[in-house]
Amino acid sequence: MIIIITLGTNVGTKAREDGRAFDELRNLKIDAGVLERADGSAYLEFGGNKILVAIYGPKESYIRRLQRPDRAVIRCRYNMAPFSVDDRKRPGPDRRSIEISKITAEALHSSVILEKYPRSMIEVFIEVLEAEGGTRCAGITAASVAMADAGIPMRDMVVACAAGKVNGEIVLDLSEVEDKDGEADVPVAILPRTGQITLLQSDGNLSADEFEKALDLAIKGCQQISEVQKEALKNRYGV
Ligand code: UDP
Repeated sequence: MIIIITLGTNVGTKAREDGRAFDELRNLKIDAGVLERADGSAYLEFGGNKILVAIYGPKESYIRRLQRPDRAVIRCRYNMAPFSVDDRKRPGPDRRSIEISKITAEALHSSVILEKYPRSMIEVFIEVLEAEGGTRCAGITAASVAMADAGIPMRDMVVACAAGKVNGEIVLDLSEVEDKDGEADVPVAILPRTGQITLLQSDGNLSADEFEKALDLAIKGCQQISEVQKEALKNRYGV
Protein backbone atom coordinates (compact mmCIF):
# COMPACT_ATOMS: atom_id res chain seq x y z
CA MET A 1 0.00 0.00 0.00
CA ILE A 2 1.11 3.54 -0.68
CA ILE A 3 0.88 6.48 1.73
CA ILE A 4 0.67 10.01 0.47
CA ILE A 5 1.07 12.90 2.86
CA THR A 6 1.35 16.60 2.43
CA LEU A 7 3.04 18.43 5.26
CA GLY A 8 3.09 22.08 6.29
CA THR A 9 0.82 24.95 5.43
CA ASN A 10 0.84 28.06 3.31
CA VAL A 11 -1.02 30.14 5.89
CA GLY A 12 0.78 33.38 6.67
CA THR A 13 3.79 32.73 4.42
CA LYS A 14 4.85 33.72 0.92
CA ALA A 15 4.51 30.84 -1.52
CA ARG A 16 7.55 29.29 -3.19
CA GLU A 17 7.89 28.62 -6.94
CA ASP A 18 5.84 25.42 -6.51
CA GLY A 19 3.40 27.00 -4.05
CA ARG A 20 4.79 25.42 -0.89
CA ALA A 21 5.24 27.16 2.46
CA PHE A 22 8.84 27.67 3.62
CA ASP A 23 8.56 24.76 6.06
CA GLU A 24 6.65 22.42 3.76
CA LEU A 25 7.90 19.12 2.35
CA ARG A 26 6.99 17.85 -1.09
CA ASN A 27 4.48 14.98 -1.33
CA LEU A 28 6.10 11.78 -0.14
CA LYS A 29 5.23 8.14 -0.51
CA ILE A 30 7.31 5.09 0.35
CA ASP A 31 6.68 1.41 -0.42
CA ALA A 32 8.73 -1.32 1.27
CA GLY A 33 9.51 -4.74 -0.24
CA VAL A 34 8.79 -4.00 -3.89
CA LEU A 35 11.39 -6.33 -5.49
CA GLU A 36 11.22 -10.16 -5.40
CA ARG A 37 14.88 -10.99 -5.87
CA ALA A 38 16.65 -8.52 -3.61
CA ASP A 39 17.02 -9.23 0.13
CA GLY A 40 15.37 -5.89 0.85
CA SER A 41 13.93 -3.10 -1.24
CA ALA A 42 11.99 0.14 -1.23
CA TYR A 43 10.45 2.52 -3.75
CA LEU A 44 10.09 6.21 -2.96
CA GLU A 45 8.42 9.16 -4.64
CA PHE A 46 9.26 12.56 -3.21
CA GLY A 47 7.96 15.43 -5.31
CA GLY A 48 9.31 14.65 -8.78
CA ASN A 49 11.93 12.18 -7.51
CA LYS A 50 11.36 8.48 -8.18
CA ILE A 51 13.91 6.21 -6.55
CA LEU A 52 14.25 2.44 -6.26
CA VAL A 53 16.60 0.83 -3.72
CA ALA A 54 17.72 -2.80 -3.52
CA ILE A 55 19.76 -4.34 -0.71
CA TYR A 56 21.83 -7.53 -0.88
CA GLY A 57 23.30 -9.08 2.24
CA PRO A 58 24.70 -9.37 4.75
CA LYS A 59 26.79 -11.88 2.80
CA GLU A 60 30.42 -12.92 2.72
CA SER A 61 32.50 -10.11 1.30
CA TYR A 62 33.76 -11.13 -2.14
CA ILE A 63 36.33 -8.34 -2.07
CA ARG A 64 38.94 -9.60 0.41
CA ARG A 65 40.64 -6.24 0.97
CA LEU A 66 37.33 -4.70 2.06
CA GLN A 67 36.67 -7.36 4.72
CA ARG A 68 36.75 -6.28 8.37
CA PRO A 69 37.40 -9.00 10.97
CA ASP A 70 35.03 -7.44 13.52
CA ARG A 71 32.12 -6.08 11.45
CA ALA A 72 30.28 -5.88 8.15
CA VAL A 73 30.98 -3.16 5.59
CA ILE A 74 28.34 -1.22 3.65
CA ARG A 75 28.98 -0.61 -0.05
CA CYS A 76 26.68 1.72 -1.92
CA ARG A 77 26.13 2.51 -5.59
CA TYR A 78 24.06 5.60 -6.34
CA ASN A 79 23.14 5.69 -10.01
CA MET A 80 21.14 8.18 -12.04
CA ALA A 81 19.34 6.68 -15.04
CA PRO A 82 20.10 8.43 -18.36
CA PHE A 83 16.40 9.32 -18.63
CA SER A 84 16.13 10.68 -15.06
CA VAL A 85 17.00 14.30 -15.92
CA ASP A 86 16.14 16.81 -18.67
CA ASP A 87 19.43 16.45 -20.56
CA ARG A 88 20.18 12.75 -21.10
CA LYS A 89 22.69 11.78 -18.43
CA ARG A 90 25.73 9.91 -19.70
CA PRO A 91 25.46 6.35 -18.30
CA GLY A 92 28.03 5.19 -15.76
CA PRO A 93 29.67 6.65 -12.69
CA ASP A 94 30.89 10.25 -12.48
CA ARG A 95 32.45 12.35 -9.71
CA ARG A 96 29.04 13.31 -8.32
CA SER A 97 27.68 9.74 -8.17
CA ILE A 98 30.91 8.48 -6.57
CA GLU A 99 30.64 11.21 -3.91
CA ILE A 100 26.94 10.48 -3.24
CA SER A 101 27.62 6.72 -3.03
CA LYS A 102 30.33 7.36 -0.44
CA ILE A 103 28.37 9.78 1.75
CA THR A 104 25.29 7.50 1.59
CA ALA A 105 27.25 4.47 2.84
CA GLU A 106 28.69 6.66 5.62
CA ALA A 107 25.27 8.06 6.54
CA LEU A 108 23.85 4.53 6.90
CA HIS A 109 26.89 3.18 8.73
CA SER A 110 26.09 4.14 12.32
CA SER A 111 22.46 2.95 12.10
CA VAL A 112 23.31 -0.69 11.30
CA ILE A 113 24.58 -3.13 13.96
CA LEU A 114 27.55 -4.07 11.79
CA GLU A 115 29.37 -5.98 14.57
CA LYS A 116 26.82 -8.79 14.19
CA TYR A 117 28.25 -9.71 10.79
CA PRO A 118 32.08 -9.88 10.79
CA ARG A 119 33.76 -10.21 7.37
CA SER A 120 30.46 -9.55 5.60
CA MET A 121 29.22 -7.03 3.13
CA ILE A 122 25.90 -5.24 2.72
CA GLU A 123 25.35 -3.85 -0.78
CA VAL A 124 23.01 -0.92 -1.38
CA PHE A 125 21.92 -0.10 -4.94
CA ILE A 126 20.16 3.24 -5.37
CA GLU A 127 18.61 3.78 -8.79
CA VAL A 128 17.32 7.29 -9.48
CA LEU A 129 14.61 6.86 -12.13
CA GLU A 130 13.50 10.49 -12.10
CA ALA A 131 15.33 13.35 -10.38
CA GLU A 132 13.98 16.68 -9.18
CA GLY A 133 16.42 17.90 -6.51
CA GLY A 134 17.24 16.23 -3.20
CA THR A 135 18.02 12.76 -4.58
CA ARG A 136 20.87 12.06 -2.13
CA CYS A 137 18.53 12.61 0.84
CA ALA A 138 15.68 10.67 -0.76
CA GLY A 139 18.09 7.81 -1.57
CA ILE A 140 19.28 7.59 2.06
CA THR A 141 15.68 7.64 3.35
CA ALA A 142 14.64 4.85 0.95
CA ALA A 143 17.82 2.84 1.60
CA SER A 144 17.07 2.73 5.31
CA VAL A 145 13.56 1.37 4.66
CA ALA A 146 15.09 -1.24 2.33
CA MET A 147 17.60 -2.21 5.08
CA ALA A 148 14.72 -2.77 7.49
CA ASP A 149 12.88 -4.75 4.79
CA ALA A 150 15.99 -6.96 4.46
CA GLY A 151 15.70 -7.71 8.20
CA ILE A 152 19.10 -6.17 8.96
CA PRO A 153 19.29 -5.18 12.64
CA MET A 154 19.49 -1.44 13.11
CA ARG A 155 19.67 0.98 16.03
CA ASP A 156 17.27 3.30 14.20
CA MET A 157 16.26 4.12 10.61
CA VAL A 158 18.35 6.90 9.09
CA VAL A 159 16.26 9.66 7.57
CA ALA A 160 17.47 12.55 5.44
CA CYS A 161 16.17 15.91 4.27
CA ALA A 162 17.69 19.16 3.03
CA ALA A 163 16.98 22.76 3.91
CA GLY A 164 18.54 25.81 2.29
CA LYS A 165 18.29 29.46 1.34
CA VAL A 166 16.20 30.62 -1.60
CA ASN A 167 15.45 34.29 -2.36
CA GLY A 168 16.77 35.23 1.07
CA GLU A 169 14.47 32.81 2.96
CA ILE A 170 15.42 29.62 4.80
CA VAL A 171 13.28 26.88 3.24
CA LEU A 172 12.74 23.15 3.68
CA ASP A 173 13.31 20.46 1.03
CA LEU A 174 14.60 22.32 -2.05
CA SER A 175 13.18 21.43 -5.45
CA GLU A 176 15.49 21.17 -8.48
CA VAL A 177 14.76 24.79 -9.49
CA GLU A 178 15.41 26.00 -5.92
CA ASP A 179 18.57 23.91 -5.73
CA LYS A 180 19.89 25.47 -8.95
CA ASP A 181 18.75 29.08 -8.43
CA GLY A 182 18.97 29.23 -4.62
CA GLU A 183 21.77 30.61 -2.45
CA ALA A 184 22.48 27.49 -0.36
CA ASP A 185 21.57 23.84 0.19
CA VAL A 186 22.18 21.87 3.42
CA PRO A 187 21.46 18.12 3.18
CA VAL A 188 21.15 16.47 6.61
CA ALA A 189 20.64 12.86 7.76
CA ILE A 190 19.86 11.88 11.36
CA LEU A 191 19.01 8.96 13.58
CA PRO A 192 15.67 10.36 14.80
CA ARG A 193 15.61 8.56 18.16
CA THR A 194 18.85 10.12 19.42
CA GLY A 195 19.14 13.09 17.06
CA GLN A 196 22.64 11.90 16.03
CA ILE A 197 23.65 13.52 12.72
CA THR A 198 25.04 11.03 10.18
CA LEU A 199 25.28 13.38 7.19
CA LEU A 200 25.80 17.12 7.06
CA GLN A 201 26.81 18.92 3.88
CA SER A 202 26.57 22.56 2.96
CA ASP A 203 26.73 24.03 -0.52
CA GLY A 204 26.54 27.83 -0.89
CA ASN A 205 26.77 30.79 1.45
CA LEU A 206 24.97 31.06 4.81
CA SER A 207 25.63 33.14 7.92
CA ALA A 208 26.06 31.21 11.20
CA ASP A 209 22.46 32.11 12.17
CA GLU A 210 21.08 31.05 8.80
CA PHE A 211 22.99 27.78 9.00
CA GLU A 212 21.52 27.04 12.47
CA LYS A 213 18.04 27.83 11.18
CA ALA A 214 18.49 25.61 8.11
CA LEU A 215 19.83 22.75 10.24
CA ASP A 216 16.86 23.00 12.66
CA LEU A 217 14.42 23.06 9.76
CA ALA A 218 16.05 20.06 8.05
CA ILE A 219 15.88 18.09 11.33
CA LYS A 220 12.16 18.92 11.66
CA GLY A 221 11.68 17.68 8.08
CA CYS A 222 13.58 14.47 8.92
CA GLN A 223 11.28 13.83 11.86
CA GLN A 224 8.21 14.12 9.64
CA ILE A 225 9.72 11.85 6.98
CA SER A 226 10.61 9.31 9.68
CA GLU A 227 6.88 8.78 10.33
CA VAL A 228 6.34 7.92 6.65
CA GLN A 229 9.22 5.41 6.81
CA LYS A 230 7.54 3.69 9.77
CA GLU A 231 4.17 3.66 7.98
CA ALA A 232 5.77 2.02 4.93
CA LEU A 233 7.02 -0.86 7.11
CA LYS A 234 3.70 -1.11 8.95
CA ASN A 235 1.88 -1.37 5.65
CA ARG A 236 4.26 -4.09 4.46
CA TYR A 237 4.40 -6.16 7.65
CA GLY A 238 1.27 -5.10 9.52
CA VAL A 239 3.11 -4.30 12.76
N1 UDP B 1 20.76 17.06 -11.88
C1 UDP B 1 20.71 17.03 -13.26
N2 UDP B 1 21.75 16.40 -13.93
C2 UDP B 1 22.81 15.84 -13.30
C3 UDP B 1 22.83 15.90 -11.89
C4 UDP B 1 21.80 16.52 -11.23
O1 UDP B 1 19.77 17.51 -13.87
O2 UDP B 1 23.71 15.28 -13.94
C5 UDP B 1 19.62 17.68 -11.17
C6 UDP B 1 18.75 16.63 -10.47
O3 UDP B 1 17.40 17.01 -10.52
C7 UDP B 1 19.26 16.68 -9.05
C8 UDP B 1 19.51 18.18 -8.92
O4 UDP B 1 20.10 18.55 -10.16
O5 UDP B 1 18.32 16.17 -8.13
C9 UDP B 1 20.38 18.58 -7.78
O6 UDP B 1 21.60 17.87 -7.83
P1 UDP B 1 22.60 17.83 -6.61
O7 UDP B 1 23.95 17.47 -7.17
O8 UDP B 1 22.48 19.06 -5.79
O9 UDP B 1 22.12 16.56 -5.75
P2 UDP B 1 20.71 16.23 -5.07
O10 UDP B 1 20.04 17.53 -4.69
O11 UDP B 1 19.91 15.46 -6.09
O12 UDP B 1 21.07 15.40 -3.89
